[in-house]
Amino acid sequence: MKVSKRAQDVPPSATIAVTTLAKQLKAKGADVIDFGAGEPDFDTPDYIKEAAIKAMKEGKTKYTDASGIPELRAAIAAKLEKENGLKYTPEQIIVNLGGKHSVYEAMQAVLDPGDVVILPAPYWVTYPEAIKLAGATPKIIQTDKRNSYKITPSRLKRAITKKTAMLILNYPNNPGGFTYTPEELKDIAEVLEGTTVCVLSDEIYEKFIYGDTKFVSFASLSQDTYNRTLTLNGFSKTFSMTGWRLGYTAGPLEVIKAMGRLQSHMTQNPVTFAQYAAIAAFGETAEQTIENMRKEFERRGKYMAQRLNSIEGIVCAEPTGAFYCFPDVSAYYGRTINGVNINGSMDFAKVLLEQANVTVVPGLPFGCDQNVRLSFACSLEQITKGLDRLEKWLSH
Ligand code: PMP
Repeated sequence: MKVSKRAQDVPPSATIAVTTLAKQLKAKGADVIDFGAGEPDFDTPDYIKEAAIKAMKEGKTKYTDASGIPELRAAIAAKLEKENGLKYTPEQIIVNLGGKHSVYEAMQAVLDPGDVVILPAPYWVTYPEAIKLAGATPKIIQTDKRNSYKITPSRLKRAITKKTAMLILNYPNNPGGFTYTPEELKDIAEVLEGTTVCVLSDEIYEKFIYGDTKFVSFASLSQDTYNRTLTLNGFSKTFSMTGWRLGYTAGPLEVIKAMGRLQSHMTQNPVTFAQYAAIAAFGETAEQTIENMRKEFERRGKYMAQRLNSIEGIVCAEPTGAFYCFPDVSAYYGRTINGVNINGSMDFAKVLLEQANVTVVPGLPFGCDQNVRLSFACSLEQITKGLDRLEKWLSH
């Protein structure tokens, strides 16, 4: 059967490809250390699971409003006001089927063919595809290692043209492991003033932030940023609920309504009993549950970065957010390891897996071929073992 041009042009997700390969090797009995994971290694907390079971038993198993149950939209509105200083009415919030779906649907709702979207590299692999599927064009902006891979105001200013419809901000960042400080965000906001550029602020890693930096939602900076921003967040990372498929978008009423119309035809509502569990997720024990995960990630991230930096030729900034280290490994490009030439991040990741049973994600699909991504969403024991292997492999 014919496959559409549109579908043919979409490559498979590079992050999922690596994890799948690692799973296949593990199934064959190989002792693989997997630094590929894009999800917390903690189980979904019991109190959330119990709320889903209760909802199911109560018959919450039928269609709901396509944009999500009003109670959940109200609970998200309360969260955004309390934690992020953002005032949205429940009608300005849509619950999507995962943050990935939020990204796709937001682009479908605001972009037109001919529009250009500014995408700072490194970027999460889904953004360029979602932009192209909306008929728009990504304009990738290279960033600098010396600036922790963050976009600078001057770089942004130079990139904006009449065709620029959107800027993507993702902080804490996947794969970069950095976050923007409130001052840096203010500088970005200043560049956007007087333009019609909207901002997709992907704040899904909001709770995983380390050191002294405070998390600030871009939309909360001023009335101007509030008006031009779609705030995206979800339950996958914060509550370790990746399999539940729950994300949300908050923003101007007309855009959220448009997303609702699209969603009513594409997917209808997010899973009904999962929505009830999501309300419970915000409950009393949430803060402590999240803080326990955050602290553990902070400990692991520090250790991983320090070990990576101790390997000759590897340069890695200590992560200030998310659960990834994104070291520059390009000093090894052009070299031969165990008889195989390493000519970029794709080779690096492939040969490392084949020869040392360690999975990392190549930086190329994130827009940075000099780097690879290592997730620290795995135990400290695994991290130690995997880095021992990496160090030994590189010394060949
Ligand atoms: N945004 C970013 C930056 C991500 O890394 C991810 C997950 N990898 C998502 C959004 C979407 O997560 P989900 O669809 O599980 O909610």
